[in-house]
Amino acid sequence: MNNVVEKVLPFDYCCGCGVCSAVCPHGCLEMKLGENGEYRPVSLDPSQCTSCGLCLQVCPYSGEVPENEETLGLQLFPEGKKEHSDNLGQWDETFCGATNDEEHRLKAPSGGLATSLLCALLESHKIDGAIVAKPSLESPWFQPTIAYTPEEIRQTTGSVYHVMTFGPVLREILQGPEKRYAIVALPCVVKALRLAQKKLPRLKDRLPFIFSLTCGGCNCLHVADLLCVMLRSRKLGLKYRSKTNSTKSPDFRITTFSQQDERQVRMLGLFGFLWINHVGQLKTCGMCDDLFGMLADATFMDAWLEDYFLEPRGTNLIITRNPEITELVKSEIARGAVSAETINPELVMKSQEVAMNERAYLSALRYDYEKTHRPEGSIMPCKRDLITQRTLTKEEKKEAVRRLRFHQQTRKYLAKMSRYHSNPDHFYPRIYVYRVFWKVLCSLIRNGLLEKTLHSLKFAKDKRNK
Ligand SMILES: Cc1cc2nc3c(=O)[nH]c(=O)nc-3n(C[C@H](O)[C@H](O)[C@H](O)COP(=O)(O)OP(=O)(O)OC[C@H]3O[C@@H](n4cnc5c(N)ncnc54)[C@H](O)[C@@H]3O)c2cc1C
Ligand code: SF4
Ligand code: SF4
Ligand code: SF4
Repeated sequence: MNNVVEKVLPFDYCCGCGVCSAVCPHGCLEMKLGENGEYRPVSLDPSQCTSCGLCLQVCPYSGEVPENEETLGLQLFPEGKKEHSDNLGQWDETFCGATNDEEHRLKAPSGGLATSLLCALLESHKIDGAIVAKPSLESPWFQPTIAYTPEEIRQTTGSVYHVMTFGPVLREILQGPEKRYAIVALPCVVKALRLAQKKLPRLKDRLPFIFSLTCGGCNCLHVADLLCVMLRSRKLGLKYRSKTNSTKSPDFRITTFSQQDERQVRMLGLFGFLWINHVGQLKTCGMCDDLFGMLADATFMDAWLEDYFLEPRGTNLIITRNPEITELVKSEIARGAVSAETINPELVMKSQEVAMNERAYLSALRYDYEKTHRPEGSIMPCKRDLITQRTLTKEEKKEAVRRLRFHQQTRKYLAKMSRYHSNPDHFYPRIYVYRVFWKVLCSLIRNGLLEKTLHSLKFAKDKRNK
């Protein structure tokens, strides 16, 4: 069969976006949560597949379509272009600011501007609904859902740092009545959506606005399970970013909560240790070359800049690529709903400097590793020259193997632990959490990565203290 299950899954490069399952004309694919804590398409009835190849043409990892973020970006935003940058892609304007709705700002991960602009699109009747991440009180804690009112949109504020799949919601908008929607998604999902829009004009008409979040990496669901065991609460809500009691913007808390109580850990503590080491991150994140969501109409991120560290209420940076969104930001400023001003794009890049440099290096390593280890004739995911043309030394190639091995080992520990966590108040799951940390530490030492971790932790600490 000429489909994603046969051609993409064997290499395990799939971000679980679910776009393939939504576009399949015969409904052959369904997204399922696998043992590794990630969503994967499964063939419900292989005899239904006609090998039409549509799923491969929308998959960002199949390499079936010779389009990378650079070429697609130029097709999407030709006239909005003021300048081009390898990292930001085409950009029309860059802003820094926050919502003036104080209550919402305190609940939002950054300055609450993604939510503000979705509400503005809805209130100005440019869309009928927005696809956002709706929280729930049990695993998988968040599901992409359509919000039809500003109040519903505001209830979904937050950053979801673990996997979600968009297959069912996309099928709903494709098969439902003719309406217009906006969606918020991570850059890899945005690429799949743009590829799908090229093939399905109906998806283009019904999804006129695509927002992206700058993405430093996303975790498998086992990491969320681990957090809940650490906080001894499983069947409860999970909020990755709470601003309670913090005096500096990067010093936020992860909270689990119920009607009765809530428990918190600091992001820069043990969870930060896992995050810095990419423990539990998707394999696709290791080969990702799009930090800034280059194909989105607008991208939202934190203002990780010295001037804003001391603003605990949080501040956003936005890159707009679609001039219609640039105008929307300006009209929201004029109306007094938002406080924002334009900012030099160099500062936008500076705010993500560490992630940007690390991403360019790591993805080149992983790409090279894949190229040399895939069976002859296999197609590679389509990446930019920035990644594919980088010359690597022998030592760097060894580093790629060390990092991949570390990633595989730690994913195995997490998957194993997730089998024991059903009752977080129970003794064994908690013992298992300590075992996971111990094993991560041993793997770091074995793979010679400990020194780099200590360096990263020191950087995070310095950033917090600034
Ligand atoms: C996995 C991940 C990694 C990130 N990495 C970085 C980083 O390295 N640097 C940085 O500056 N910022 C990063 N961000 C973005 C940052 O955390 C904020 O989401 C962003 O600044 C928007 O803030 P806001 O206050 O405007 O959000 P809000 O106004 O709360 O709006 C956010 C919207 O996004 C939706 N949403 C949340 N998570 C997801 C998701 N995973 N997929 C789809 N929709 C979602 C919410 O439902 C909400 O509608 C990351 C976000 C995620 C989810
Ligand atoms: S090849 Fe065509 S029919 Fe087969 S799963 Fe993919 S989209 Fe569906
Ligand atoms: S389209 Fe998305 S879900 Fe489907 S195989 Fe590709 S990455 Fe995975
Ligand atoms: S780092 Fe890249 S591949 Fe990973 S979730 Fe973010 S956008 Fe997707």
